[in-house]
Amino acid sequence: MSKGISRELTWIVAGLWIALFFGWATDLWTITLLAYFLFYVARQLYSIKRFEQWMKGSTKVPYPPSSGLWGELSYLVSRKQRSLEKHADLQFYKSEQFLAASMTIPDAIISLNEYNQIEWFNKSAKKIFKLKHSDTGRKIETLFRHPDFIQYLKSKHYGKGMILQSLNGMPRVFNIKLFPYFKEHKLLIVKDIHELYNLAQIRRDFVANASHELRTPLTVLNGYLEVMIDSIEPSSTWQKPLEQMHQQSYRMQSIIDDLLTLSSMESETITGKQKQVNVPQILQEMHIDAEQMSHGRHSIDFKVDMNLALKGFEEPLKSVFMNLISNAIRYTPENKSIEVRWYHDKRGAHFEVQDHGIGIAQEHLSRLTERFYRVDTARSRDTGGTGLGLAIVKHILERHHAKLVVTSQLGIGSVFRCDFPNRAVILLQDSDSESRDKKIPSRS
Ligand code: ADP
Repeated sequence: MSKGISRELTWIVAGLWIALFFGWATDLWTITLLAYFLFYVARQLYSIKRFEQWMKGSTKVPYPPSSGLWGELSYLVSRKQRSLEKHADLQFYKSEQFLAASMTIPDAIISLNEYNQIEWFNKSAKKIFKLKHSDTGRKIETLFRHPDFIQYLKSKHYGKGMILQSLNGMPRVFNIKLFPYFKEHKLLIVKDIHELYNLAQIRRDFVANASHELRTPLTVLNGYLEVMIDSIEPSSTWQKPLEQMHQQSYRMQSIIDDLLTLSSMESETITGKQKQVNVPQILQEMHIDAEQMSHGRHSIDFKVDMNLALKGFEEPLKSVFMNLISNAIRYTPENKSIEVRWYHDKRGAHFEVQDHGIGIAQEHLSRLTERFYRVDTARSRDTGGTGLGLAIVKHILERHHAKLVVTSQLGIGSVFRCDFPNRAVILLQDSDSESRDKKIPSRS
């Protein structure tokens, strides 16, 4: 039995004994018991009133009832209240601590509600973007008007974030990322990466300049080596060393060309507007090149959707397609088949090269697009590889908001697939419905 009820019962029994004593002493049993009953009810009503007033926080009743059932209830309520206050104090302390910590962060942090209105921002946001207290409640799109940012905000796919080279007229590089939380609220974090970006730019410029400087002497060297090879007797002891020198300097030239391509991708020098790229036509030409590269050692099959074009940069895209096709040829043994497919589905357009070659072990797959990463260095060199092909492919695809998906099984073969988003897809006029999914005949 609870403490409150047992106390109340003690009061009732004690009161009853007194009432019975008076009844016995006066012989007025009914009146005494009735008086006791009325007294008990009045006392309860009074306690309820006091309890109610205390609960409402009335100044007239600063203390809760202290006896009987109501006293016990008041005690339990005030104990609960104290523990809640303690908890609230702790929460308040924690949130104060969090706010104080976020104020020291050099990145701008802006909290947005489900309508993208500013709810709160830290000191750095105030300093960098000159935010004022009155900006609370303002829509973020009215503050950050950059079209790429607005598109990112609307996309609801916040993933890796985005990089902007200027924001609100500030010519600095910002890394922007949105983190969704609690019912479509978002935390916007803007990091100033200007210095970091500049350092990376210096490194890129160095590689580009060094490659550029090496290009001319190498061309001269190559030219002389070619002349020397042509002019000496085939029986000469110099024939082999000269050929090897020529091969190596040719390889160096390929590496330098690839490094230059890569640095031009990185420093965003693919300029101009994206255009309609007639992929079926390009692949038709590439089929001839592929057959020439293979020298009839493989069976190469092209399955191309003839109505499917792409919005993008033509030359870089050609480089992606050729890199993947030439890799398939280089890493596939004789008499095996290679299939090239160009098709689209509801997710977008896909360029796929499947070979039945040497394959790649799983542990290498995630590193294939790193510069100079080779699974088999000797084989790559022997087949004229630079170790930069897939790094170039990755960069070009990123520029097209596309991604490279590689699946492979060692000894069985590989599939390299480029996934282009729907927004890049252009469907050519279907003048000849039979032209869809055409198998391009081999013309080697
Ligand atoms: P490389 O010029 O060495 O071929 P890439 O960047 O094109 O450089 O490819 C990186 C590495 O990925 C290659 O060295 C090779 O080991 C592996 N690779 C690429 N394509 C294939 C393929 N189709 N089959 C097997 N391995 C491949």
